[in-house]
Parts: sequence; C-alpha cells; structure tokens
Amino acid sequence: MNLVDRICKRLNYGIFPPICRLCGNPGLPEWDLCLLCHRALPCRPPPKLFGEGLVLAGFDYGNPVDGLIRHFKFQAQLGAGRLLARLCEPAFDDSRPMALVPVPLHIRRLRQRGFNQSLELARYWGRRRGLPVLPSALVRHRDTAMQSTLTSPEREPNVRGAFRAVMPLPRHVALIDDVFTTGATCRAAREALFAAGVQQVDVWCLARVT
Ligand SMILES: [Zn+2]
Repeated sequence: MNLVDRICKRLNYGIFPPICRLCGNPGLPEWDLCLLCHRALPCRPPPKLFGEGLVLAGFDYGNPVDGLIRHFKFQAQLGAGRLLARLCEPAFDDSRPMALVPVPLHIRRLRQRGFNQSLELARYWGRRRGLPVLPSALVRHRDTAMQSTLTSPEREPNVRGAFRAVMPLPRHVALIDDVFTTGATCRAAREALFAAGVQQVDVWCLARVT
C-alpha cells in the first residue's frame, strides 16, 4: 500500500469509523463488528459428509447470525452479506473446488428480491480464492415454495427435479447457498450437477442447522 492509499484509508477511517452491525458500538478496525459481538458469534460446525463432498459452513445457525442473514436476504443489506461472507472464509480453507456454482433462484423470485444472495456470496468468495463463478451453470426451471415455509418432510419433494445444469462443467465444484437446513435444495442441485458430469460437490454456506 503506497503513502497516498495509507493516508486515504486513515482519513476514511476518521470520517467513517466502522460501526458494529449488531450493537451499534464502534467496530474493530476495518470491520463493522465490535470485539464483544465477534466473540459472541456461534461456533463453526464441523464439516458434514455430503456424498463424496463436504458441507462446510461458517456458523451454527443461530442468534445473531440468523438475524444478519435475514437482513442480507430479505432487506437487501448487502453489507451484512459481505460481513458474513468475510467471517466465513476460513471455513472453506481445505476445500479445493475448480469453480463456484451459486444455487439459483427462480426468475420470479429473482425479480421480486432483485438479487440472488447465493450469487453475491459466490462472487465474494470467488474473488477471494481466485476461483471462477458459474452463475448460469444451474437453472431453477420450476418455481418452488420457499423451503423455510415448509416442514422437513415437505422440503425434499418441493425441490426434487427443480434444477437443470448446463454443460460443460468442471469435475469438482462448490455449491454456494446461504443456509443448509435439511439439505434438500443442495441435494436436488447436486443431482442436476451430477447429470451434467460433475463428480464431486462441496457445499459452502454461511450457516448450517445442526
Ligand atoms: Zn457489537
């Protein structure tokens, strides 16, 4: 970082000091999170087997990560998404996919929300890891009810066959999603990826319900 960059950074920090997104107190330098809130974040769950791959999550799903995810997803607070994405990065250190594939939204939900939270995460992690992001690799060709509104037994049939993959795809990819609950969505997406020749699918997500 050259001198001008350093001065700009210092000025920016003086004018816009980071504020903790959770409690409103001053944040740690270059983080919109304070030390106390950082220490109170939920633990990282252990990797979970997912066929030949692994489900890797930054956090156990719970307070206050659930609130940040809701702000990101339903109130379009992209800053909350970036904060979560940054906090979760170390969870994926041992995963070596060749590309990142975001779980797509159906076009109707995309128009409603204005953005796909999984694509935002994939872009962030792709930049950080120098990995290509394949936003068109999967298509959600069937509109489905929101998984969060369904009971566990209703989730699998809701998303079965909802995805189609567009070839060619690399042998090993990471599927990007926000929350891994029963895994029904990721299994349906993985089926489509397998049908297109992918052999290993890891899941990178913000949080996992354990
Ligand atoms: Zn705080």
